[in-house]
Amino acid sequence: METDRLLYDGHGRRVGDLRVSVTDRCNFRCQYCMPADGLPWLEREELLSFEEIARLVRVFVGLGIEDVRLTGGEPLVRRQFPRLVGMLAEDDRIRDLSLTTNGYLLERQAGALVEAGIHRVNVSIDSLQRDRFFQLTRRDALPQVLRGLEAIAAHPRIRPIKVNAVAMRDFTEDEVERFCEFARSTDFQVRFIEFMPLDADRAWTPDAVLAGEELRGMIEAIHPLEELPREPSATARVFRFADGRGEIGFVNPVSEPFCADCNRLRLTAEGKLRTCLFSLHETDLRQPLRDGAGDAELESIIRDAVWRKELKHRVNEPGFRQPPRTMSAIGG
Ligand code: SAM
Ligand code: SF4
Repeated sequence: METDRLLYDGHGRRVGDLRVSVTDRCNFRCQYCMPADGLPWLEREELLSFEEIARLVRVFVGLGIEDVRLTGGEPLVRRQFPRLVGMLAEDDRIRDLSLTTNGYLLERQAGALVEAGIHRVNVSIDSLQRDRFFQLTRRDALPQVLRGLEAIAAHPRIRPIKVNAVAMRDFTEDEVERFCEFARSTDFQVRFIEFMPLDADRAWTPDAVLAGEELRGMIEAIHPLEELPREPSATARVFRFADGRGEIGFVNPVSEPFCADCNRLRLTAEGKLRTCLFSLHETDLRQPLRDGAGDAELESIIRDAVWRKELKHRVNEPGFRQPPRTMSAIGG
């Protein structure tokens, strides 16, 4: 692609990764994300249709976006979701077309997703103990999620498969050993993600974050680790168990922000472009799209918004304001 078409922000970062939320709905109620009673869902006509998503993704890809991750809410609750995957997979300019899911509906959909052309899948699992999984997600669903994980793992071309666990103080400490054993006895890459202030209950406090370094120390005391080279714009620090049995990663957005080489954008289920997880401002793409804007007009709106991409998040600064949207309404 000609370099003058690529998307840059006003701080000189090239943006190449788009997270697309396909729904704000979810069948789980994870404590760090959704309230127990759910949230007021978007009306059907507010949601971008598959055709609208595909059109916008094409415009982004024309600006050099190469990595597209489908998320939500829970993407697999959106009806006919594999059809959208198929529409996007036709574009071979997308280098990495991936999905983040809670895994509950994966057992049923794995085959269709692979057939539709998904490249990679991340599954979120915060506990490997059934009762604690229930406590955190408010759904007694661990066995179903593990069946989903096995169903997708049965397709050797979907690799690597990452298992993401949100790390919360007074909860995750008791999961660490089990996750290590899991990472060491399977080919799943387990990654711990620091709890961020994007929860609907607004229960987040700095003390509730279990920092990646602390977790790494706990693991290192049992299993020596060797750090692997960090890929450009990667969010995770990845380590290999020194005895060669598996890998474990840490995504530390709170204790070690990686804003300086952030290359990500997010599109919400109703078509708002967000340039940071913590943005207080967003840009509507749905209205211009529905008003018949051509590609050039959409590109210009996107370029303007990306130019204003936030330098960094301010979670650790006094006066930080949690965005009104929760993680489920943004698309994590
Ligand atoms: N429902 C799908 C799932 O859970 O994988 C996709 C959407 S979910 C919002 C995407 C990721 O965000 C999940 O891995 C989830 O654990 C993570 N997440 C949600 N709320 C979070 C928070 N407050 N801090 C850190 N990660 C969070
Ligand atoms: Fe649903 Fe994912 Fe949020 Fe859990 S983290 S409530 S599965 S959107």
